[in-house]
Amino acid sequence: MSDISKNLQDLIRPEIKEMAAYHVPESSGLVKLDAMENPFSWPDGMKREWLALLSKAEPNRYPDPAAKTLVEELRGCFDVNPSLGVVLGNGSDELIQLVLMAMKDGACVMAPMPSFVMYQHIARSLGVEFVGVSLNTDFGLDMPAMLAAIKEHNPAVIFLAYPNNPTANLFDGDDVAAIIDAANGIVVIDEAYQPFAMKTYMAKVPQYENVLVMRTVSKLGLAGLRLGFLVGHQSLTKQLEKIRLPYNINIFTQLTASFAFKHIDVLNAQADLICQQREVLLQKLSALAGVRVFPSKANFILFSLLADSAERVFNELKEAGVLIKKMGAVKGLPAQCLRVTVGSGAENTLFLDAFISIYRP
Ligand SMILES: *Cc1c(COP(=O)(O)O)cnc(C)c1O
Repeated sequence: MSDISKNLQDLIRPEIKEMAAYHVPESSGLVKLDAMENPFSWPDGMKREWLALLSKAEPNRYPDPAAKTLVEELRGCFDVNPSLGVVLGNGSDELIQLVLMAMKDGACVMAPMPSFVMYQHIARSLGVEFVGVSLNTDFGLDMPAMLAAIKEHNPAVIFLAYPNNPTANLFDGDDVAAIIDAANGIVVIDEAYQPFAMKTYMAKVPQYENVLVMRTVSKLGLAGLRLGFLVGHQSLTKQLEKIRLPYNINIFTQLTASFAFKHIDVLNAQADLICQQREVLLQKLSALAGVRVFPSKANFILFSLLADSAERVFNELKEAGVLIKKMGAVKGLPAQCLRVTVGSGAENTLFLDAFISIYRP
């Protein structure tokens, strides 16, 4: 290695050098059931109306830094109490980063394990200590362990994904309440899958000063926009707002999301269809021999193979044109787990047919 090259490497924090990059597999030409996307497009009339709106955008101008129109639509659309603050993120991933960036040196962040990988990934990238607490084998919160860990580490931030990814379940409401009560720090309830669970802490935020509800429009059907938001007491959101980059929500996202929120019925109807498809897929997968299917309140299903290699099945599914997710590296899951996103009826059938022909129980 040349001197300059070595010097440059020496600038990077060691914990970053040890990190693995977030890997997104190539998916062109495949039936894409790996990333919890909504498979449905918009009705033609709605698409035309949207394109007409976009044609009035001025890409030479900076966007509205506060995205006022968007926030107004969003407050109405998602029943945000008028006393609460809203912070917008370029995806909720950015909001995870924003919350952690605001914490003091020495702060620690806690989440159940397994849970959404970005909590740990982002904590590590910021040099913030991460404490993972294993879930019970039924994927419920291990309350004695959670409460003991809260006492021991006094986390500045606790993330609870509700429903949880990758396990697809909703945590028990009493457990969540006990964690909120026990925490001295912030509890972020990550409701990325709320459109499919129909359960939310949104209406409870006014009574909990230490709770932030985090939402994203990604799983609802707008993954390409990159828009997430945090709702909480203004005592917190005003501080977070100071470090949000002023133009983090671009004009196309602002226009498109405002437009989509006016047509929220279309997106909600799509989410309903996905929920119906989820029930069909749950039932059909559960009927197969040698497959253990876990309950789901999200738009994906976690299942484990009792008699074959998940790696082999994943690879052969991909060969057959269907991309799902293999969970091999995830600690705390049973062996041989796979995760499939609920797609359209046709996509789910393609997946199931391929799976049945490939799997050897
Ligand atoms: C997908 C997902 C997110 C990330 O959403 P973006 O807004 O697309 O960044 C956040 N939390 C959980 C639990 C998720 O599964």
